[in-house]
Amino acid sequence: MSMLKVSVDYDAIAGNVATLRALAPTAKLMAVVKADAYGHGLLPSARAARRGGAEFLGVAQPSEAIALRDGGDEGRVLTWLYGPEVHAADLLSRDIDVSAGSLEVLSAIVKAARAGHGTATVHLCVDTGLGREGVPMANLDALLTAASAAQDEGLIKVVGMWSHLAWADQPGHPTVDAQAENFHTALATAEARGLDIELAHLGNSACTLTRPDLHFDMVRPGIAIYGLPPVEDPEGDNFGLTAAMSVSSTLALVKELPGGHGVSYGHEYVTPQRTHVGLVSAGYADGVFRAAGGVAEVSVRGVRYPIAGRVCMDQFVLDLGPETEADAGDIVTLIGPGGPTARDWATAIGTIDYEIVCRFGGLRPKTAE
Ligand SMILES: *Cc1c(COP(=O)(O)O)cnc(C)c1O
Repeated sequence: MSMLKVSVDYDAIAGNVATLRALAPTAKLMAVVKADAYGHGLLPSARAARRGGAEFLGVAQPSEAIALRDGGDEGRVLTWLYGPEVHAADLLSRDIDVSAGSLEVLSAIVKAARAGHGTATVHLCVDTGLGREGVPMANLDALLTAASAAQDEGLIKVVGMWSHLAWADQPGHPTVDAQAENFHTALATAEARGLDIELAHLGNSACTLTRPDLHFDMVRPGIAIYGLPPVEDPEGDNFGLTAAMSVSSTLALVKELPGGHGVSYGHEYVTPQRTHVGLVSAGYADGVFRAAGGVAEVSVRGVRYPIAGRVCMDQFVLDLGPETEADAGDIVTLIGPGGPTARDWATAIGTIDYEIVCRFGGLRPKTAE
């Protein structure tokens, strides 16, 4: 049986949220805990975010919002990703804030309110340029008209308007300012219709860290609360954030092989000399990307080793060198203090650290550190 341990330092998440709040002192903070809190575990991460002072929790799926309520969270929660088939009644009756970025979704929400499931607390979603969720600027008027009418009937209360940035990780990119300008226009249009937007929100982690001028009433950091800022800290201090996830395994076997010996399927790695190889008990079934073979590194006793040859379903091999202290039973750090970071894995295999933590955490139970 393979052995991969994913441990999460929930105090780090609480601390990161507090740090981000201090960086956005004029705004509320919505901690984004979608996708099982980026693989860190929904409920413990949510509790940690609340401890750190998050006024809101944000999730994509309605089922995640319900899971937060079932798990005992009684604070404000927003869910934003669903179509007109959404069971809005379940959300309204549990006091979950809802997003509406189309007339169809708004009418599903209004229908649930009309059926007596409660007044809907609505955040209107406008597409200011991402080309993903939300009503296009050109159709905003129609959505505002429908929302005002439903609000006049007492069925919904429009509390927020939000949008999402396409290029926030390049803070100087011209689309950031163009989207901000559209967002200001959308807010002014809503106010002119008599809608009182208490909560305008636009910024993800990158925006929270680099564009204080775009914090509006609330910021929505995700990846940064897990300690993985998507932009470089000019001061080299990771913005004071601490990576929360560690991933480790163990060496099942250490043995000597002669030089010129092929290693793992397809013999993509061949020992350059007499050496020791170590067998690690984790593979792609555990979240170790198969693409990591030959490129990603792990550490044993503080020394980095690249993965030798292909990653298999539940194991992979390291070339520990002709002389090694490493022994069967040793801990292998895939991600963690003193070892590689999620960013190192992302760089090695050509992805982003978001996908690395979602993958490792998504496939394994999490242990609190
Ligand atoms: C995922 C997401 C965020 C958080 O983004 P990060 O880059 O992880 O900070 C914020 N808002 C919305 C709408 C999202 O989908």
